[in-house]
This record gives sequence, C-alpha cells and structure tokens, in this order.
Amino acid sequence: NNCWTGVNERTLVAVKPDGVQRRLVGEIMRRFENRGFKLVALKLVQASEDLLRKHYWDLRSKPFFRGLMSYMSEGPMVVMVWEGLDVIKTARNMLGENNPADSLPGTIRGDFCVEVGRNVIHGSDSVESAEKEISLWFGQNELHCWVHNSRPWIY
Ligand code: ADP
Ligand code: MG
Repeated sequence: NNCWTGVNERTLVAVKPDGVQRRLVGEIMRRFENRGFKLVALKLVQASEDLLRKHYWDLRSKPFFRGLMSYMSEGPMVVMVWEGLDVIKTARNMLGENNPADSLPGTIRGDFCVEVGRNVIHGSDSVESAEKEISLWFGQNELHCWVHNSRPWIY
C-alpha cells in the first residue's frame, strides 16, 4: 500500500487486555473517530510473548517488566493504527499520563482507570516508535488506504 503520503502521521493505539475485558473498546474508538482521525488498521489479537518482548524492549530491565508481560498476555488486545495531523502527540494527550493518578479527567486513563499496572491503553510516543510498532504489529497489506471525500454521504 503506497497511498500513504506521509503528510499525516500514523500511530499505533492498543486497547490492553483490561480495556477489552471492561468493554471499553467502543468508547475508545469513538473518541478517535470523533476527534477526526482515520482508522487504517484494526485487529483483535492475543499477543505472543515474543511480540510483547519486542514491543516493550526498552523496558526490559525495569522491575515491573515481568508483571507487564503477564498483564499484556492475559487476554486479547484491540490493536489499531490511526492516521491524521499530529496524531502521535494528540493521541498521547487523549490517553493521559502514564500513571492514571496524574491523568486529567477527560483523558482515557483519567476517566477509566486508577492503576499504572492496569492502564487500559497504549499509544506510540514518537515518530520512531510509531514506525517500529506499526511494522511490528501489522503487515503492509493490513494497512488500508481509503478516502471519504468521494463519498457524498459522509460529511
Ligand atoms: P506509556 O504506556 O504511558 O508510554 P511507559 O512506556 O513508561 O508508559 O510504560 C509502558 C507500560 O508499562 C505502561 O503503560 C504500564 O502498563 C507499564 N508500567 C509503566 N510503569 C509501571 C510501573 N511503575 N508499574 C507497573 N507497570 C508499569
Ligand atoms: Mg511508552
């Protein structure tokens, strides 16, 4: 798929196992749609340990790493790629802070969780990590290109 011009950013957002268990998927997706971002990839996936290890490679020496691996393995996640102007930074703002206690009401973590170890959602934190994470979780043929401006029933 070569239709991505790179003018708009792409970011990886994942509803973690606790978010799926708590039926927060629709609410979270609605926020990204309402904000005006475009969904270009989506799947429900039970992550392998190998994939999680690669995803969180930078945190491998942290004391919470083992707990993080088991948290992220305890059920399927909904993994998505959202596209749009400044979507990487804006998505991080929509998520809230790493620790839910520091997350303002109105953010996803600020509205739906209290523990850093159960913080419901992941979002890429930079252009480099977005590129790395998108290629880790999705194949090129899973990233979709579509336009709505040729469809008159969408405003
Ligand atoms: P973020 O997800 O906001 O980018 P980090 O990259 O620092 O945060 O950490 C990745 C994930 O590791 C967090 O979302 C959280 O699930 C987990 N985590 C981070 N810090 C802790 C901690 N002190 N205790 C338990 N889990 C943590
Ligand atoms: Mg991070």
